[in-house]
Amino acid sequence: SHSKYDKDKGVNVQVILRCRPLSEEELRTNTPVVISCNEHRREVSAVQNIANKQIDRTFVFDKVFGPASKQKDLFHQAISPIVNEVLEGYNCTIFAYGQTGTGKTYTMEGGGGRKTKIGEFPSDAGVIPRAVRQIFDILEAQCAEYSMKVTFLELYNEEITDLLAPDDSKSSDDKSKKPIALMEDGKGGVFVRGLEEEVVYTASEIYKILDKGSAKRRTAETLLNKQSSRSHSIFSITIHIKECTPEGEEMIKCGKLNLVDLAGSENISRSGARDGRAREAGEINKSLLTLGRVINALVEHSGHVPYRDSKLTRLLRDSLGGKTKTCIIATISPSIHCLEETLSTLDYAHRAK
Ligand code: ADP
Ligand code: MG
Repeated sequence: SHSKYDKDKGVNVQVILRCRPLSEEELRTNTPVVISCNEHRREVSAVQNIANKQIDRTFVFDKVFGPASKQKDLFHQAISPIVNEVLEGYNCTIFAYGQTGTGKTYTMEGGGGRKTKIGEFPSDAGVIPRAVRQIFDILEAQCAEYSMKVTFLELYNEEITDLLAPDDSKSSDDKSKKPIALMEDGKGGVFVRGLEEEVVYTASEIYKILDKGSAKRRTAETLLNKQSSRSHSIFSITIHIKECTPEGEEMIKCGKLNLVDLAGSENISRSGARDGRAREAGEINKSLLTLGRVINALVEHSGHVPYRDSKLTRLLRDSLGGKTKTCIIATISPSIHCLEETLSTLDYAHRAK
């Protein structure tokens, strides 16, 4: 393998590319496909030939998942090894990056199919429920003594909202979502003041929390006109595992897994002035662009890593760089109508390699 993830212990940034299938509507209207994926060669090509505009570009990634790829395969091939690292005491982050409508939430959470039986998933279950299942399976198999807590927050306009905060039933018009502060802890780290941390003991408790938080996110999306395409959500699982050394000494291993559904990347290229939301576009730009720069700096081993330039990167600082693993899942559409955004996603993701 030629992955930086495998060969360079100091960097550990893996970039994978996933192309969704055409939707039923796109099929019905005979939407031309301009993307082809070669999973074996880990290549994605964008090809379009019209009279005055010829595009033919090919990008190589650590892994490529084409339109027919299954949730299960993406998880086993790309994510499962990272989950194992979390249980070895690494802080790991998995990002979904891409234009709105390309499958970030589908990939991270799933397609909304209901669980059939306890412990059994619908085939469209995404990365998060599968990661949770794997964590509990391993801990149970090890008979480990452990504790686990989860947080779920949303970052919108550089403001943090707690998706697990108890409901403030008096307000349907969104203001139970009061922003909370990101504080410096004086040791180079940060914490979110008042963020709800739920202690969990079973996988099904986590699924419930996840459902509750994403329902809240969806409600906000309806109320605030697709806010979620402009917000980042971060679901974090922190695990402390008690271990005994061969000498019989007790030690605590701590690992953290962040699962991040990023704001739609179209916000990065869209001019704020054009749609009258200058501040918002600027702020979204800030987190997505800073994330790109931070990952770039880590991959290039350049001295200065600009964590402090956005809330997203400040929040994730303890999980980016150093003894950590990062995976970016870049999602694209195969449609001709998305080509411009697809090319900018491919460029962004490729620069992170
Ligand atoms: P995003 O979160 O990036 O805005 P979604 O995850 O909501 O996009 O996906 C948009 C639509 O496409 C949804 O209806 C979703 O179920 C469908 N979809 C996305 N990716 C896939 C895929 N790989 N296979 C099948 N359907 C998909
Ligand atoms: Mg989404």
